[in-house]
Amino acid sequence: MGEILTERRLEPDAAETDRCGACRRCLDVCPTDAFPAPYELDARRCISYLTIEHDGPIPRALRKPIGNRIYGCDDCLAVCPWNKFAHAAAEAKLQARADLEAPRLADLLVLDDAGFRALFSGSPIKRIGRDRFLRNVLIAAGNSADPSLVPHIAARLGDTDAVVRATAVWALRLLLPQAEAVSCLQDLRAAETDARVLAEFEGVS
Ligand code: SF4
Ligand code: SF4
Repeated sequence: MGEILTERRLEPDAAETDRCGACRRCLDVCPTDAFPAPYELDARRCISYLTIEHDGPIPRALRKPIGNRIYGCDDCLAVCPWNKFAHAAAEAKLQARADLEAPRLADLLVLDDAGFRALFSGSPIKRIGRDRFLRNVLIAAGNSADPSLVPHIAARLGDTDAVVRATAVWALRLLLPQAEAVSCLQDLRAAETDARVLAEFEGVS
C-alpha cells in the first residue's frame, strides 16, 4: 500500500486481458456479496476492508455474514483458479504462526491493550489496534452460538471503548434469549450516553 504524488501527466495502461472467461467463483463465494457485477468490487461490503480498515461500528446487516472472520477474508483469492500457480512465500514473517492458527475466542475477548500488543508483536494485526480487534472478536463471538462466551462478552459491556461496548450489546442479544438480554443490559442502558451504543438497543423493551 502506498501512493505517489506527481505533477507528471501519466498515460493510462492498456486494459488487462480478460482471463476470467465464464468463471464467477469469486463472485459466488463472497460472504457479503461485495461484487455487484464482474470486475466491480464494493469495498464497503468487503470483510477485509471492514475488519482491517474500517473504523467505528461495522454495519449491522454485514455482521452475520462475517461469521468468524476476525482479520481479513480473502475467500475470493482462495477460490480463484489462477492462484494455483502462486508460489508459497519463503519470507518467515509471512508464515502462519502456529499459536494463532485457531485461537480461542474466550482468550481473545479478555485482551487488554498490553496483552494485545504482546500477542501480536511483529504481526500486521497489531496495526489495527486492540479496540478494533476486540470489535471484530465480538462479532465472531456473537455469531458463534456458544453460550459459554456470554460472561466474556458481558465483561466488555464496561469497556472503555464505545464501539467495543456497542458490539458487545449486539453479540449478547444474539446469544441470549430476549428476557435475559434485557435484564443483563439494563444497567448499561441506563448509564450509557454514547449514541453508537444506544443504537444497539433498538427493539429492546
Ligand atoms: S475478501 Fe472476502 S469479503 Fe472481500 S471481496 Fe473477497 S470474498 Fe468478498
Ligand atoms: S475466481 Fe479468478 S478467474 Fe474466476 S472470476 Fe474471479 S478473478 Fe476471475
